[in-house]
Amino acid sequence: MSDCLFCKIAAGEIPSEKLYEDELCCAFSDIDPQAPTHFLVIPKAHIPSAAEISPENSAAAAHILEVIAKVARDQGLESYRIVSNIGPQAGQSVPHLHFHVLAGRDMTWPPG
Ligand code: AMP
Ligand code: ZN
Repeated sequence: MSDCLFCKIAAGEIPSEKLYEDELCCAFSDIDPQAPTHFLVIPKAHIPSAAEISPENSAAAAHILEVIAKVARDQGLESYRIVSNIGPQAGQSVPHLHFHVLAGRDMTWPPG
């Protein structure tokens, strides 16, 4: 999608601190980290949110979970949280599917 921030980051049109990239997805540091480790993993194809995962695009979503496990392992993370916000009430501010990966501090439950 031409005016989507994360499509532009995936295409390299907007700079980011990339941690991992392959043909289906990329991982990059969050610009406003909420924990000592905070990165995002996104599909390169535009999917508006996790609510739009379907049989046609679920392979990319499953692949992202594998990539999260690999990047977390490579970073030596033993405990971390994966979050995907859907819609404004849940706090989604960028309408392109992304998984937050947060680590390095104590987390509370339930999340705010
Ligand atoms: P959400 O609010 O769940 O939609 O998450 C969007 C995330 O994108 C927030 O944590 C932002 O800090 C992050 N973000 C926004 N712009 C950028 C950017 N240019 N590079 C990296 N992260 C960004
Ligand atoms: Zn997009």
